[in-house]
Amino acid sequence: MKTNNLGFPRIGSNRELKKASELYWAGKISAEELIQAGKDIRRHNWQLQAEAGIDLIPSNDFSFYDQVLDLTLTLGAIPERYNEFAKTNSSLDLYFAMARGAQKNGQDVVAMEMTKWFDTNYHYIVPEFTKEQKFALFSEKIITEFKEANTLGITTKPVLIGPISYLLLGKEKEEGFHRIDLIDKLLPVYFEIFEKLQAENADYIQLDEPFLALNLSDKERKTFTEVYNKINIRFPKIKIILANYFDCFGENLETALALPVHTLHLDLVRCPSQLDDILESAQLSSTVNLSLGVVDGRNIWKNDFRNSLALIQKATAALGENRILVAPSCSLIHSPVDLDLESNDETLTPEIKQWLAFAKQKINEVVLLKQFASSEIDIKTAAEFEQNTIANDNRKTSKLIHNNDVKNRVSGITSTDDQRKSAFANRRKSQIEALNLPLFPTTTIGSFPQTAEVRSWRAKFKKGELSVEEYNNLIEKETEATIRFQEETGIDVLVHGEFERNDMVEYFGEQLAGFTFTKNGWVQSYGSRCVKPPVIYGDVSRPTPMTVKWSKYAQSLTSKWVKGMLTGPVTILQWSFVRNDQPRSETCTQIALAIRDEVVDLEKAGIKIIQIDEPAIREGLPLRKEEWAAYLDWAVRAFRISASGVKDDTQIHTHMCYSEFNDIIQNIADMDADVITIECSRSQMELLDAFADFNYPNEIGPGVYDIHSPRVPSSDEMVKLLEKASAVIPVDQLWVNPDCGLKTRHWEETKKALVEMVAAAQEMRLTV
Ligand code: GLN
Ligand code: ZN
Repeated sequence: MKTNNLGFPRIGSNRELKKASELYWAGKISAEELIQAGKDIRRHNWQLQAEAGIDLIPSNDFSFYDQVLDLTLTLGAIPERYNEFAKTNSSLDLYFAMARGAQKNGQDVVAMEMTKWFDTNYHYIVPEFTKEQKFALFSEKIITEFKEANTLGITTKPVLIGPISYLLLGKEKEEGFHRIDLIDKLLPVYFEIFEKLQAENADYIQLDEPFLALNLSDKERKTFTEVYNKINIRFPKIKIILANYFDCFGENLETALALPVHTLHLDLVRCPSQLDDILESAQLSSTVNLSLGVVDGRNIWKNDFRNSLALIQKATAALGENRILVAPSCSLIHSPVDLDLESNDETLTPEIKQWLAFAKQKINEVVLLKQFASSEIDIKTAAEFEQNTIANDNRKTSKLIHNNDVKNRVSGITSTDDQRKSAFANRRKSQIEALNLPLFPTTTIGSFPQTAEVRSWRAKFKKGELSVEEYNNLIEKETEATIRFQEETGIDVLVHGEFERNDMVEYFGEQLAGFTFTKNGWVQSYGSRCVKPPVIYGDVSRPTPMTVKWSKYAQSLTSKWVKGMLTGPVTILQWSFVRNDQPRSETCTQIALAIRDEVVDLEKAGIKIIQIDEPAIREGLPLRKEEWAAYLDWAVRAFRISASGVKDDTQIHTHMCYSEFNDIIQNIADMDADVITIECSRSQMELLDAFADFNYPNEIGPGVYDIHSPRVPSSDEMVKLLEKASAVIPVDQLWVNPDCGLKTRHWEETKKALVEMVAAAQEMRLTV
């Protein structure tokens, strides 16, 4: 039996890579220094895994920005617009220009598009393909890094994305072809890489083909068979490890089992049930090995050795120990690096800490599991097993986790709890009367600029350098100034600005029971950007109101309406590490009840308009279409539970960004928010068509300007967009607002842009 790792976090235990990259981009360190920082991280990671006892240690899992972009460069699939830039810049700078765009020495190139890596919060750079796309080996990174590990005395398993998933991850940039048709042009470059690796005596190569977990066309499935047969014929000696993860093979199972590969990696965390099907399948060839992904690469919980051993033993009983590898479910880049760096404190108590494992700990779990499964037990490993049992049993019964009041409340939810009192048409009448808003009412999405100053107040407050009163005073002043600015600008529905919030999820997590936080639990989101998701470990409840004080304060300053501002249950769930001891839907419902209490308290405090942000609804969609309906069902219900405790004349808003709505428009309508604001301007209002075609009945605010850019749009531009919107949506349903919150913007451009926006709304009112 062997141990196998698919990938290790490359950000460094203390985010060394982030720091070095950002210094390099700022021109403060040289390329050599950045390259050295990368080398140091790789050496550290390889040695850590070798010392822990991992047999198949990955290489080429390191990346300065993104592994998909690395491969794009390796394969020479560099879009034409970078040709000029490439002539006068190093390949490192070319690489970063493709990732982030570049403006220097009169050269100006835009970045390649970025999108989410399957259902994770990691973002990759989308390959761009043309009809006449050419591929040619451009970068030898994968070979260089293999040799680099060799010089340290460590033989690694080079990892790269398989050819079919690579093509499917990309996008056609012109019409008239499907990217899968490029396979014959692509494959020779893969072969060249394999030849070079073989010449360096690489024994194993891992090819990641996560698309095997998605719904594929017959043609795509057939391509899998053809490609892997070709690889096998050309390179019979290379041991190909084909890695699938994030879900079951589903209807691709037969195809996958028939592929002539050395090892098939399975994600048994996401899909434990498929092990039986595989072991019993007549398709399973008598030579293929199985890499059992039993340690969760996507979450922070300690493995339960008893459950994992049961799976491993089932497999060894059927196939024999020699054909089994033990592994994490997927690459560990999705988990934080090292739990040992967390100090015990009042947030992450010793009791909670014993339930957790980060990447370094997961590596040890994989090794221990192999030792138990192959009966290599000594006093030390026996003690580790016992510890593991104690921690898992403690978690099952801990008072920290289980709150019967919460459980009872969830099971007591009735069919009226997710229904507003009246249907939208009636609520609307009450709201028109109560709110007295003009046509094309103007508003913003919630946050106003989080300046360096505002952030410094919070930092000082946390360090104890500012007292509560001093901190609150500063936030009050900033809030008041923002209210005055909105009044002067003539905005109709105001916001308080969210200056008291660090982050739209963390702010709520810090106040809800059942959440905890790490100090260093960073995970790469894209490039140098890392996120530190809260940890939901227990039943969620709301001990005290979370936002009422600030909303009430802001409302007291003005005679205009100030929107209450909350993050919705699905988004809080989606952007946290969640419990694995109960379904996500259950945790989401608990959060929904906590938000509902907050909504009701805001109403009691005189807030008439309350926004519940759900930007993450769409990204929560499961990978397989057949699971969409079940997810949308509980996700929409959770939103409705959070929104339905109020009177008819209280207006509920929601906000979503970067979503396509076509295939989920019915579910968006089912959320039944009185007003929805959406990101729209980059697509020139195209996203609105889904609402128009559906005859979306409630009110809607299509974003009229892009808040991700410092550019100030003119009122004319916004009028054009609003005219476009008015052509497809009845004018009395339309709101006027930016695309998203303004927290990343500066005040200067924010003020100018909002003045233009109000002017645009005024002009529109004259046309009706
Ligand atoms: N209310 C939040 C803000 O304005 C919404 C952010 C988001 O949609 N991501 O910042
Ligand atoms: Zn948004």
